[in-house]
Amino acid sequence: MGVERLRCRECGAEVAVGPVYVCEQCLGPLEPVYDLDALRRLPLRRRIEAGPPSIWRYADLLPVDRDPAVDLSPGLTPLIPALRLGQAVGLRRLYIKNDSVNPTWSFKDRAVEVGAAAARRFGYEVLACASTGNLANSVAAHAARAGMRACVFVPAGIEPGKILASAIYGPTVIEVEGGYDEVNRLCAEIAEEHHWAFLNVNMRPFYSEGGKTLAYEVAEQLGWRAPDAVVVPIASGNLFVRMYKGFQELAALGLIAAPATRIHGAQAAGCAPVAEAFVTDAEIRPVRPRTIAHSLAIGTPADGRYAIAAARATGAVIEAANDDEIVDGMRLLAETEGIFTETAGGVTIAVLRKLASAGRLDPDGVTVVLITGMGLKTADAVAESLPAPVRIRPTLRAFEQAVLASVST
Ligand SMILES: *Cc1c(COP(=O)(O)O)cnc(C)c1O
Ligand SMILES: [Zn+2]
Repeated sequence: MGVERLRCRECGAEVAVGPVYVCEQCLGPLEPVYDLDALRRLPLRRRIEAGPPSIWRYADLLPVDRDPAVDLSPGLTPLIPALRLGQAVGLRRLYIKNDSVNPTWSFKDRAVEVGAAAARRFGYEVLACASTGNLANSVAAHAARAGMRACVFVPAGIEPGKILASAIYGPTVIEVEGGYDEVNRLCAEIAEEHHWAFLNVNMRPFYSEGGKTLAYEVAEQLGWRAPDAVVVPIASGNLFVRMYKGFQELAALGLIAAPATRIHGAQAAGCAPVAEAFVTDAEIRPVRPRTIAHSLAIGTPADGRYAIAAARATGAVIEAANDDEIVDGMRLLAETEGIFTETAGGVTIAVLRKLASAGRLDPDGVTVVLITGMGLKTADAVAESLPAPVRIRPTLRAFEQAVLASVST
């Protein structure tokens, strides 16, 4: 529908919609303001169900209108009952929300689609971002579709698969010597000086809202009800906070009953500033990431504090998984459900498993685990742990000797 105002999450000050992202009063983050009364008067459920099979079915609840020039049709990804994975971890009503099947194979397409529409509304000609990989892929693809220029900044040393999955769309890819947090700081400086739309910097109030559609879809696909628990990976904490906001909004609009959803968080042990602050109940202490889960390797998570507040408000916890557990998680998901996720999904599955065995999840409750990215982009993380193919000469005898003996029981 398009909003007219932005509001500071910290002090509540309001400003007219524009390419601004921090509050002038207190430097807090700005968020779109929706006219809930006007929305309540609409036949929302009917409008959503009659909408396109993408995030734009929720256009009434998003801060900008759909822009066909940057629409790659992300969202409405499958919510799959996970019987075998559920059996492996001891949950009877487990679902996988498979967001790895988005246009550039990660949940970032949801956010970029909304942020890119805002960038065009404000007249920008260059799309840019600070990224750990997936965001860059999505920004490059959306710019290509619109015939815009893209310039994506990533830390040196991320996975070759993620560089390739940006480069194919023809952007300028800039590898910055440093970690994500240095990339992010550089991009904030560039955004001050140059008229570029950095999706996760000056477009952040719009970009961030795209993540809410994951909560909307889960509720719609469960027949307009919120699950009892969700397990959500955390990098900056944005997706986590939007899951919370998404369910809250649906309830405020009368589309679902007041949710009692526990929103659990998953981090990589090699970069777990949010999980650590959750446990110690202290301020978030920045860390220097050291993990195979590069897409979650943000040492100074912008929304970490809000994520902790949301976890506590729902009675949930934030846990971490180490690199070995991440690889085991990737393999477990692939071997039980036929879904090849990237390292971030390995983190989520590993934490799901821990929460289930610690009795944190009701075995008979509806649990949804978010799989946010695709495995081929991080192939090296699991390559070594997998058995080599069985190599044979092209004869029946060789086949029977080498293969049948091991397959038959
Ligand atoms: C970016 C990303 C996330 C979560 O990111 P937030 O910054 O916490 O919103 C999760 N999974 C994957 C694969 C990602 O690329
Ligand atoms: Zn403020």
